[in-house]
Amino acid sequence: MEITEVRIKLMDDPGDRLQGFCSITFNGCFVIRDLKIIQGGKGPFVAMPSRKLTDRCPECGTKNHLRAKFCNECGAELEEDRAIKDDEGRAKLYADIAHPINSGCRDLIQRRVLEAFEKEKVLAKQPGYICAYDDYGEDRIARLKRRPDQSRPSGTTYRIDDAHHEHRRNEASRNDVNRPHHLSQPETDPQLNHRDRDAFGEGVQQDGH
Ligand SMILES: [Zn+2]
Repeated sequence: MEITEVRIKLMDDPGDRLQGFCSITFNGCFVIRDLKIIQGGKGPFVAMPSRKLTDRCPECGTKNHLRAKFCNECGAELEEDRAIKDDEGRAKLYADIAHPINSGCRDLIQRRVLEAFEKEKVLAKQPGYICAYDDYGEDRIARLKRRPDQSRPSGTTYRIDDAHHEHRRNEASRNDVNRPHHLSQPETDPQLNHRDRDAFGEGVQQDGH
């Protein structure tokens, strides 16, 4: 197995604990996105892509993140301390969705990502720098249908590290090079048409709800 590409997205604030996001490509054919580069006590390290763990609302059965104070669907107020704790009493709130299963592979990924991260920091200082990481425009600020009602809970699941990169994304999309990881040649498998791919994506997203 070979890592054939690493794409880095640096955070705007170099003092932030979250230093960047990245994607890695294996053998030129399989991409894993949303790895994080985090500043730890002994220097930066790589965190695997993860999702928030959920449980079900007792009223309507909808899955909500374990830190959600209200059900996202019916608004029921939920007990706050719902996560399973590990032996040291830390709440388990996230699960890796892709990860190495031995230290050799972990070291390989970490080394390649941190090398690319250091290079990206140098590149980012040059004029005309454009980030190659495709973030699907998720940093866009949503349009309001109406002003928030004071009696309703406000953004309970919003995380700080979701909010940092509006500036760079705008820059990249203006230049239209924030290109997705698509194949350069046309899709050859007729089974894999757009509808199938959309359906697959939906299935994956449902898991996170
Ligand atoms: Zn509910």
